[in-house]
Amino acid sequence: MRPAKLEWAYEWLKTTKHLYINGKWTPGSSGKVIESVNPANGKVIGRFTGASKEDVDAAVRAARAAFESGEWHEMSRKERGRRLRMISDLIRQHQDELATLESLDNGKLYREAYMDDVQEAADIFEYYAGWTDKYYGEYNPVEGNFVSWTTRDPIGVCGQIVPWNFPIDMAAWKLSPALAMGNTVVLKPSSVTSLSAIRLFEIIHEAGILPPGVINLILGEGSVGTYISTHMDVDKVSFTGSTVVGKQLVHDSADSNLKPVTLELGGKSPNIIFADAPNLEGAIERSFYGLFTHKGEKCSAPTRLLVQRPVYEQVVEGIAKYANSYKLGDPFDPAIDQGPQVSQAHMERILRYIEIGKAEGARLVAGGYRDTEGSNAEGFFVRPTVFADVKNNMTIAQEEIFGPVLCVIPFDTEEEAVQIANDTIYGLAAGLWTNDVARAHRVAKRLNAGQVFVNRYGCYDFASPFGGFKQSGWGKEYAIHSLASYTKMKAIWIAH
Ligand code: NAP
Ligand code: MG
Repeated sequence: MRPAKLEWAYEWLKTTKHLYINGKWTPGSSGKVIESVNPANGKVIGRFTGASKEDVDAAVRAARAAFESGEWHEMSRKERGRRLRMISDLIRQHQDELATLESLDNGKLYREAYMDDVQEAADIFEYYAGWTDKYYGEYNPVEGNFVSWTTRDPIGVCGQIVPWNFPIDMAAWKLSPALAMGNTVVLKPSSVTSLSAIRLFEIIHEAGILPPGVINLILGEGSVGTYISTHMDVDKVSFTGSTVVGKQLVHDSADSNLKPVTLELGGKSPNIIFADAPNLEGAIERSFYGLFTHKGEKCSAPTRLLVQRPVYEQVVEGIAKYANSYKLGDPFDPAIDQGPQVSQAHMERILRYIEIGKAEGARLVAGGYRDTEGSNAEGFFVRPTVFADVKNNMTIAQEEIFGPVLCVIPFDTEEEAVQIANDTIYGLAAGLWTNDVARAHRVAKRLNAGQVFVNRYGCYDFASPFGGFKQSGWGKEYAIHSLASYTKMKAIWIAH
């Protein structure tokens, strides 16, 4: 890991950043300027343009023209793959810069930004670069005197809206498969964390990798996302964010051109420790880090820990011990375990949930308050918080808190564990720990979640699909599944 580039970052942040439309940086037409805040100290670190509706129209027109010209999707597949690999290489070359901006803007640890977010962004461009010439249609075994086959064509102009918790990584999750399949893109990062996407677009622009209009960057708040989701000339929307906004996007699609929408939404994922867990200490450690890294701002975090009674107190004590020893502070300090929450508003939302948990009668065994020690006074720090004896019908067990707050829930039987685990509006991920292989199969099958992890919570690989059930979303990202969602399948018949 290379050291952070703070001096470089402060220099870069001196100029106001703009929108990227049709291969050019433009201040747009709204006159609106948005401030980036460093959540470790509440200070403004940079400024960027907020887009108007006309700017979004211009970006969509540019993406449409770039798509219709065919320059990108008719380019040889090998060459398109080579260009995506160049983007991957450039992200690695700029890994320290990008991770510095991510950490300054989002508050996550520099080492998390470097090793997780930016590393994965580079890796996923490389992964999808390899798919450009490997994804194709099928021969259909139809009856009669016909030949029938399917083709997989790019959809066209894709609107992509990403959240603030993994800003560059989520942008890369969406850009790389869309581009691999020959689409053009209008991307909107969260207004809370736009810096890393701006820098990524600069890097791609400077290297001249993509024809003008193939990728466009629109900055601004949620209303700017609405201009994309309601646009009559956007062919598809891919969204990662909250369930509330996800539902709105479905309405927007229905009220405009019925564009397909893929949704990666919230979660309240259960993590079940049975008394026969193979390595209880390991299960406790992993269950802790599964939630509390990236300051708990993770959609698939195991936020409901279900523990069988014989090991219940041991697990509660073990988790509380990790939480109480956690050091909060400057995300660039290697001795620190947890940075600030992403924004003041988000910190306040988490603290409100903590008060609700106390009022609902859950037993607080760690944290439960804002950390204002020493140099943390101006930042948005929340102590890792563990509630024991939580009942699954409490608000803190049902609603997504999206911060460093764990609910521990006791259970007696396997049946009860499955019932509690599935008693949620969400279905993103689930975990279970057991030494009984028959139980592992039985419970994994019954858990109503898009990913089930047995004896190791939180496994991610581009080869394995990611996406939730129920109100956690529609569709899958990663692997071949992302490619399917960025193509339209056509059946062609020829009579002979
Ligand atoms: P959010 O409020 O839904 O925002 C997500 C994105 O949508 C941001 O770019 C946001 O812009 C934009 N947006 C807000 N309102 C919009 C609207 N009416 N129309 C179109 N776009 C709109 O979510 P968040 O609070 O930033 O992110 C946290 C949520 O994301 C959590 O619920 C979490 O579980 C979910 N998440 C899910 C996954 C997954 O893969 N399943 C991954 C990460 C996060 P502004 O931020 O500028 O308002
Ligand atoms: Mg910020």
